Parts: sequence; structure tokens; C-alpha cells
Amino acid sequence: MEKRIYLDNAATTEISANVYKKMISSFQQTFGNAKSIHSFGRDALTELENARETVAKCIGAKPNEIYFTSGGTESNNIAIKGFARANKNKGNHIVISAIEHDSIINTCKDLEKEGFVVSFVPVDRNGIIRYVELLKAVRPKTILVSIQMVNNEVGTIQPLQAISEFCATKEIVFHTDAVQAIGACPVDVEKNKISMLSMSAHKIHGPKGIGVLYVKSGLKIDPIVSGGGQERGLRSGTECVPLAVAMAEAVKDATENIEKNNQTLKNIKRYFLRKIKQTIPAVELNGHTRDRIPANVNLAFEGIDAKALVMLLDMSGIAVSTGSACNAGSINPSHVLMAMYDDEDRARASVRFSFGLGITPGEVDYVVDCLAKHVKKLRKISPYKIKKDKEDK
Ligand SMILES: *Cc1c(COP(=O)(O)O)cnc(C)c1O
Repeated sequence: MEKRIYLDNAATTEISANVYKKMISSFQQTFGNAKSIHSFGRDALTELENARETVAKCIGAKPNEIYFTSGGTESNNIAIKGFARANKNKGNHIVISAIEHDSIINTCKDLEKEGFVVSFVPVDRNGIIRYVELLKAVRPKTILVSIQMVNNEVGTIQPLQAISEFCATKEIVFHTDAVQAIGACPVDVEKNKISMLSMSAHKIHGPKGIGVLYVKSGLKIDPIVSGGGQERGLRSGTECVPLAVAMAEAVKDATENIEKNNQTLKNIKRYFLRKIKQTIPAVELNGHTRDRIPANVNLAFEGIDAKALVMLLDMSGIAVSTGSACNAGSINPSHVLMAMYDDEDRARASVRFSFGLGITPGEVDYVVDCLAKHVKKLRKISPYKIKKDKEDK
């Protein structure tokens, strides 16, 4: 296997040369503990605070509203658990969507054991939250609404402005998991009326193990880790300054060229879909055709087992995935696709292609050629029947 093509950028991305360079130079030069009062500590603190300021600027926040965490998962845990526990005197009800990332869903399931009540708002076939259902789900005891900005499996963009404005009128705190949105959608926490927002570096060409939680100043949140009181008491543990530097650099790079990058990805997506349409029958796009980030193309190949297709593509040097990386080892169909279509066959036949900027038309041609070959093979041996046959009987 010589050439490999990586189309799993929604699972993680390759660290960029720029981010890597800045991170390594910080590792080499700034090893002090940012809490130490000597010059080594002061150097570390300066770098840490510069990184904080950079991240804040990219999303229209103030530096003291930015908290470094270990990633998207931890940011989501602190936001939801920390806020819920600190505000349970105001109410015990939380609203999320049915297609949130596991780090939101399982956090909420943990909270249910503590007496919180969670409503899961359904989505339509396009993977867009049913807004009217969200309005209906809210009760007097609702303290928090958390809806992702962009879905990690199908790439759909949620109508966040309407949701956040509704929450503002009800004085309900609104959190969004923006891990998949940074770099694809412009974010301004003030204008978008967002009270808390999670991000992660490794989805935007930064390293794994670092993320950010934005918390609007004035919100009360209990820490979920106790310790030395770093990150203004919200996230104890000695800060990894080089990772914070890398996070800042990754967010800056991702948010600087959103429009240009989206255009490039849109062209790739169009080319890919056109070629698929020309060569492979019975393929359907999962998710909204327009309200989606261009990097994500999730396709249902009728009658095939997606896991088998992923393995065959891997043998051809092409990396894709079924739904999310978290589900990759499980036998359950994706909760996102099930919420959208309530169709196990479709969920089990769906593959996610998530593009990066570097891919060439020649590589897309190769991918589609391999796809056509493998899909044909799998359909021949498929234990499922193509639906049309089923309906005929
Ligand atoms: C990847 C991802 C996360 C988790 O982020 P980690 O940094 O890997 O913990 C959370 N939410 C969404 C939407 C994601 O895509």
C-alpha cells in the first residue's frame, strides 16, 4: 500500500506544520509552571495568557471567559455537569438534541442519576432540530439548553441563532458544542447569544489533548476536578502551556480563512458527488443538502454493510468511517442516523467521508473508482436486499 488518502477529518485531523512548529518551540523554551512566581513561571504565564487572548479574539469573547481543558469531551462535561450542579437551586431540567455527541448525551445520562431530568429534542430527516419541539420541551424548571452547532456524523448546521435568542428571552443558559463548527462557521459568542461553547484542537489541525470552554462571565459553574485552582478554579491541574499555544494557533488558522476554505471544500464535495452519481446507483446523501459544512459527505449505499465497505476502502489505502469514531467498534447503528431516518438498514449502509483541504481531483477519482468496485462487490454478496426488490415482493 503506497499512497494513502485520509478522508476522516471529522474524527481527527493532521497537525499543521505551523501549529506543530509553535508547539514544539514552546515545549523547548517554556517549561516553567505558569503558577510559579519566578521568571520561568512568568514566561509560561505570559505565553498562556497570550494564547487565551488569541482564542478569545477568534470567537468575540473576553480572555477571562476562556478556559483551557483537555478537549471537547472535557469542555462538554464541565459545561453541562458544572453548570447543572451549580444551578440546581434554579431548576433540574436540561434540554439537548437527539443527535448530540456522546460526550453530551452520556454526561446528561450521568446527571439523570443525580436527579436531573433531560429532554431529547428530535430532528427531522435532514438532521435539523425540530424547533417547535424544542420550544415545547422547555419548562419553568429548564436551566440549560445544549445544542451542537454542527453535527459530527452528517455535518448538518443547526439553526442556532433562533434557538439562542429563544433561550435568551426565557433566561435559559445556552451551551453549544462547536467542536465541528470552528473553522467552518463564523462564531461570535456575543452576537450569537451563546453562554457556553466547547471546542477541541485536534479537529482543526491542532494536537489531541487540548480544548477550550468559553463561559460567559458571571455564570456560576462548579468545577468537576478539585485541585490547585488553575484556570480560575474551574479546571485544576498544571496547565500545559505548549498545548494552549497550539490550541490558539489552530483556532486562529481555522477562523482566518473560513470563506476561502469552505469554497475549496465545496468544489471538492461537488466534484465527488457528481462522480458518485455518474458511477454508483442507489446512493443517497444523509443530512441536509445545503445546511451542512462542505467537508462532510455522509452517504447511504443501499444494500451494503458500511463496516465492510470501510474495511475494503482501507485495503485500498482510503480512510473513511461509519458515523463517529466513538461508534466504530459498536454494533449499534448510529444514534444520529437512527434519529433522522429510523431505518436500521440505512444507518448500517452509511459511510462518512470528511475531506481536508489538501485532497486533489485525481485522488477523488481514485476514491470513487475504488468505491464503485467495492460497492458492486458488496452488493453481490449482500445479506440485505435492495429495497426496491423488497417492495416488489
Ligand atoms: C470530537 C468531538 C468531540 C470530542 O472532542 P475531543 O477533543 O475528542 O474530546 C465533541 N463533540 C463533537 C461534535 C466532536 O466532533
